[in-house]
Amino acid sequence: MKEIRILDKKFREMISQDAIQERISQLAQQINNDFRGKEVLFVGILNGAFMFAADMFKRIDLKASISFIKLASYHGTNSTGEIKELIGWNEEITGKNVIILEDIVDTGMTLEGTVHEIVLRKAALVRVASLLLKPDAFTGSIPIDYLGFEIPNNFVVGYGLDYNGYGRNLTSIYSLVR
Ligand code: 5GP
Repeated sequence: MKEIRILDKKFREMISQDAIQERISQLAQQINNDFRGKEVLFVGILNGAFMFAADMFKRIDLKASISFIKLASYHGTNSTGEIKELIGWNEEITGKNVIILEDIVDTGMTLEGTVHEIVLRKAALVRVASLLLKPDAFTGSIPIDYLGFEIPNNFVVGYGLDYNGYGRNLTSIYSLVR
């Protein structure tokens, strides 16, 4: 398995580029089927979800638009547990079908906050797509409607996810070697 170094840490390839792309194609097909004939607003969560959002959105065959919001709350390799305010929200979503695009759901706190904000703004329907989920860390109650992969409770980088700002450009997902 391929190993890489980012700053002071070593990471090992866990999910290949091909596996990621194939899974996103499957999820996009599900969304295309579930929302056939309807309009959808995709909301990507920055920074981590930009790559997932781009690859997903390219495969959407619906009347669709996309917007991005930022909700930074993560530093280094440990979740701080706090949710910061929403940045960059200028979308009118009343009555819209919204699909949130998340890179990774860890405790679920970020997702909980985001869904809450979107429900408050009176979306008709809110669904969640996440590339990754750490079931052992998850304490939330919001279901992930479109999930790419369940992964162990270990820090990962690549495909949009960073370690102290680096590694987002990797096309596969890598897990921290302890
Ligand atoms: P949660 O609120 O679910 O605990 O955390 C979600 C956010 O924490 C994600 O959007 C992501 O930014 C960050 N995060 C959680 N786990 C990881 C990880 O393994 N690697 C990276 N790079 N970020 C993570």
